[in-house]
Amino acid sequence: MVRFVDVHHLARWVADTGLESIISDLVDALEADFRRWPAFDKAPRLASHSGDGVIELMPTSDGGTYAFKFVNGHPVNTSRGLQTVTAFGVLADVATGYPRLLSEMTLLTALRTAATSVMAARALAPPGAGTMALIGTGAQAEFQALAFHRCLGIDTIRAWDTDPAALDKFVTNAAQLGLDVVRATGADDAIAGAHIITTCTADKRNATVLTDDMVRRATDGGVHINALGGDCPGKTELDIELVKRSSLFVEYAEQSFIEGEIQHLPRSWPVTELWQVLTGDRPGRTSPDEITVFDSVGFAVEDFTALSYLDAALDREGGDRYFERIELVAEPADPKNLFQLVEDEMTVDVAGA
Ligand code: NAD
Repeated sequence: MVRFVDVHHLARWVADTGLESIISDLVDALEADFRRWPAFDKAPRLASHSGDGVIELMPTSDGGTYAFKFVNGHPVNTSRGLQTVTAFGVLADVATGYPRLLSEMTLLTALRTAATSVMAARALAPPGAGTMALIGTGAQAEFQALAFHRCLGIDTIRAWDTDPAALDKFVTNAAQLGLDVVRATGADDAIAGAHIITTCTADKRNATVLTDDMVRRATDGGVHINALGGDCPGKTELDIELVKRSSLFVEYAEQSFIEGEIQHLPRSWPVTELWQVLTGDRPGRTSPDEITVFDSVGFAVEDFTALSYLDAALDREGGDRYFERIELVAEPADPKNLFQLVEDEMTVDVAGA
């Protein structure tokens, strides 16, 4: 039997356990997995593009456990009353090939993305950062804001979204969460005096959410840019001049050169994979005046970590409060008699007729 965590189960687990505590644990779990980066199978995700968006499969394995996520990215969806990003994922045992966990991953992705952002910022942001600009206040926004507040001590969020309703929603939710929020009047206003800038906008084009001039004017020295909305070919957020003069950090360069802000740069451009900073192999921020960019696109190892963390929590907490068991995999008593399962149903049908 496979454990199945649906959206209500996942939301209940988050509410019972505490969102901030899960994110904080996830940061540590991600760091541990990023430090053993060479142990993972890695490949750019398999993307199926259409005019409206993309559907992607994200697999990885550490030799003992295999994971994959199905995720979509459709910025047009919110105009249809649907979400931009939805996902589900599977964890399986490599030894048998049998899946053991099937989980919703729309919420889990928001949690792991926030935790990944914090992991990067912990290594790259200017010391003492207290103010974060948050540009794009859709589905990911509250998770990002809470994660930075809890794990990095960010006490002020300067928020901006081109959609006033999304901005209203965020300001209301963030105030209820006890965050100090400034409702900015534009991207340039949002980034004024910020030490960290998170861009999480959704637009299926090469947008320029931040221009190089804007960043020069608004910041008085170093800044860390946590750019997570540019995650598809032809879908980026940053002015290329800003990208070029920044120190660039990515998850997995081979995938990021296809999907990230660096898709506009030649493959020879110097970028650092985040795991190298976490293991101490490569430097992170080297000066207070530096602009660091975490060009986040989301990588399979992060989903592996999130699913493994959830699986371990379900082991600990036991009971069926957070999952049900489903027969996802056929398990005939005689493994060579798969037909028996159909025959059993035929017998039931005949008996019931
Ligand atoms: P969403 O559609 O719920 O929210 C995006 C928000 O951006 C919307 O409110 C929209 O009005 C706003 N926006 C669009 N253009 C803007 C602009 N120029 N300036 C200011 N605001 C603007 O999407 P979401 O689920 O919050 O995801 C945000 C982005 O992050 C998406 O592009 C998604 O693909 C990406 N994402 C990345 C990762 C990762 O691991 N890197 C994970 C999840 C989502």
